[in-house]
Amino acid sequence: MKKEEMIKLSLLEAVRYIKKGEITARELLEATVKHIYSVNYNAILSLFEEDAFFVADKVDMAIAAKEPAGVLAGIPVIIKDNIDVAGYACTCGSGAFRANIAKVDADVVKKLKAAGAVILGKSNMDEFAMGSSNLTSAFGAVKNPFDMKRVPGGSSGGSACAVATHQCFFALGSDTGGSIRQPASYCGVVGLKPTHGSVSGAGCFPLAPSMDQIGPLTRTVGDCAAVFEVLALAERYDRYGSDFSDIRTAPMRVGVINESLPEIRGDVSAAFDAAVVTLKARGCEVREVSVPSFIAAHYIYKTVAFAEITQSMRTVGAGRELLGREVKKRVLAGKVVLDSPALLAAGLAARIKLAEEMVFALSEVDVIMLPTAPSVAFRLADDPSKREIKFSDMFTQPASIAGLPSLSVPFFKNAEGLPLGTQFVGKVFREKDIFAAGKLLMGEV
Ligand code: GLN
Repeated sequence: MKKEEMIKLSLLEAVRYIKKGEITARELLEATVKHIYSVNYNAILSLFEEDAFFVADKVDMAIAAKEPAGVLAGIPVIIKDNIDVAGYACTCGSGAFRANIAKVDADVVKKLKAAGAVILGKSNMDEFAMGSSNLTSAFGAVKNPFDMKRVPGGSSGGSACAVATHQCFFALGSDTGGSIRQPASYCGVVGLKPTHGSVSGAGCFPLAPSMDQIGPLTRTVGDCAAVFEVLALAERYDRYGSDFSDIRTAPMRVGVINESLPEIRGDVSAAFDAAVVTLKARGCEVREVSVPSFIAAHYIYKTVAFAEITQSMRTVGAGRELLGREVKKRVLAGKVVLDSPALLAAGLAARIKLAEEMVFALSEVDVIMLPTAPSVAFRLADDPSKREIKFSDMFTQPASIAGLPSLSVPFFKNAEGLPLGTQFVGKVFREKDIFAAGKLLMGEV
């Protein structure tokens, strides 16, 4: 197989070829590394080539000896740079953490290693995951794969871009208010924010722990489910089963949030309508549900997140003076919230109300469908006070606030060829439903 074809395989296809001995893990890694050096999106901050080739060779030896090699055998992965890989810098996209060397692997990295994945490097991100553009990274902006003058989204913009541009077969990101799903939408890839608490966060630098969640970015829904099966804490899935690699699609009840409809405009509206038509054609029932607090999500998110950010950032000692403006601004804003018990209490009460409304709406349907973002990727030079930029997480925040699983799939492209994601929100621990909906919409069987 040619190198150009190899890097374009899906993760599941690549594993199959490696296990059949048709390509080796070393060949796949060589092709990937060569490609990484040929592109220039600033998506990757560091590469661990020596260790990666060592692991690839180990996988090849295991396969030659007919020993079990793991479900992700020989698959190169890029990890967001707020997740620890032992022995390497974990910068969190910050000048303050340039020399922060991780001592132990994050739990998710341990799981990937045990599944035979090849940890290839770390991806660029907004500083301490605060942002929706990668413009706050101390290491420079990441470029959008479809238009170098646009942002990749954020904060997991490096991960989304690396997957879209075939610099890896999947990547890990973290999502607090939309940081996996929104860049997935802007870069045309699949992104999952799993149920809160379903994947260990140990070894990931906290932003707002009550909403933070690590998850995968991939090129297909099937790949996403396969990676999630590796990452998920199986004991949390006693009731529903932790087998995610065999998702069957079937017509389902899809809810659209009545109160979200006025916010769906332009290209986003064309994408949303097309998704409704496609799902109906595939046998789904699409009906309106009500989430009256939908529009408050942005403010609830800010109140809760900023208070938690101020607490998270207290652990940053030396190098504080190197923190960027966005980080400093949020720490100050969070202090205001923490110093005002009434404000914090109002934020938390509004959070519970929104969460209850989301859960009630989901009692009437199998999944809720929303756009992932209110626009295509914006331009690097755009005015950040524009509504679609300021509120770029308006559709992703409700699931975050409620701790619900949420999947963005790259269903649509506008007339300029820029991608737009469609988002499915499911019940707690029911990732199976959103994978099924995503597969159905994307026509993946
Ligand atoms: N854009 C949101 C923020 O800046 C989301 C961040 C995230 O999910 N990590 O807070």
